[in-house]
Amino acid sequence: MKEELNPFSIAQKQLDDAAEKLGLDEATHELLRWPMQELKVTIPVKMDDGSTKIFHAFRIQYNTARGPAKGGIRWHPDETVDTVRALAAWMTWKTSVVDIPLGGGKGGIICNPKELSETEKERLARAYIRAIARSLGVTKDVPAPDVYTTPQIMAWMMDEYETIMGEKQPGVITGKPIPLGGSQGRDDATARGGIYVTQEAATAYGVDLKGQTMAIQGFGNAGQHAARLGEEILGLKLVAASDSKGGIYSADGIDVEALIEHKLKNGRVNDLPKAEEISNEQLLELEVAVLFPSALENVITEENADRLRCKMLCELANGPTTPEADDILFEKGIIVLPDFLANAGGVTVSYLEQVQNAYNLYWEIEEIHWRLKEKMSRAFKGVYEMSQNNKVNMRQAAYLVSVARVAEACKLRGWV
Ligand code: NAD
Repeated sequence: MKEELNPFSIAQKQLDDAAEKLGLDEATHELLRWPMQELKVTIPVKMDDGSTKIFHAFRIQYNTARGPAKGGIRWHPDETVDTVRALAAWMTWKTSVVDIPLGGGKGGIICNPKELSETEKERLARAYIRAIARSLGVTKDVPAPDVYTTPQIMAWMMDEYETIMGEKQPGVITGKPIPLGGSQGRDDATARGGIYVTQEAATAYGVDLKGQTMAIQGFGNAGQHAARLGEEILGLKLVAASDSKGGIYSADGIDVEALIEHKLKNGRVNDLPKAEEISNEQLLELEVAVLFPSALENVITEENADRLRCKMLCELANGPTTPEADDILFEKGIIVLPDFLANAGGVTVSYLEQVQNAYNLYWEIEEIHWRLKEKMSRAFKGVYEMSQNNKVNMRQAAYLVSVARVAEACKLRGWV
């Protein structure tokens, strides 16, 4: 039978497994299998050449039992309602696993941002907010950046929302530029959280990472910061990186800052001097200490899982590994740091950004870093303990911790 690659079916399957292990009653299980609210909007946008283009977009609030919905907005040509549903579900488990008082949501616009000018991007961002403004708000649903969306896009979105509401509400969107109420440390928060989790895992499993190697699939926001912080905090050496156009490899190590500059200038990692060209598939199969999938879903499947040779897999991307691949990796003894634990640093600092916006009082970077480290370490330890006590893999353990908390909140509210 062909492997299931629909991200929402995968998210439901993972939940079903946790529901069974937790012995959830039928109503709670069914409630947690579906988004509580979905908004589909069709947005006309005037293009620079005078034509009008119609865009399709979504905003989904998956579950708000533990607090207002929280989740990024992705701009991607392959976006589908099921991708957004899956990402919204994973946000729900993510805010729960790091124990912050928020629910889960996600947004997406089907578009190719590489084909849009800056003015077209601004009109699209503003039109999207006009279309979904009624379901947003600091006490309802707070978006953030995700794939191909930036702090500048967040700034236009916040400005549009405030214009509609006629008042300042910076906390309605996180990941904003710092002069508009963004938080120190939000730019590298996702990667930093993943690095802290990797550090905890190395201690727990007794792996010495210093001087060992790492490979990064998807050299964007999360991937670039992971390379920098992997080197700085864990002492890892970058030997391979890739993006949508291909990958590069050098056994001697790649200068991280030079690669970031090269990518910024040329829009790709390929053609870096003194590095060999490799494919994304080859990169995933390299023998490295830590592999960071940092691009999109379903890159590690039952087709290639057996060929992976990393010691640890730190999933900065959402949904990079299918359930079938998970079983194979577990049998091979690869330490998997599951997505909604490993990449929860972004939403954790987004939450800190909201707190600062609410108080209108802003913290220094050191305060952000220690608060993030404390949250990530505590989350790792809770999941690790669950995995050891129940003899389940780290993803199943993360689900057990998160789903139990969300189920409890639904029960306390009298929903089930
Ligand atoms: P980004 O747009 O900054 O970077 C994505 C990178 O992936 C780009 O370099 C792109 O070229 C590359 N890419 C796209 N398709 C690829 C392919 N087929 N093979 C290899 N590389 C490919 O996005 P980001 O914000 O870094 O997000 C990356 C992942 O991390 C996503 O899964 C996202 O949901 C997840 N994530 C991001 C955040 C955040 O705060 N940015 C938080 C949590 C999770």
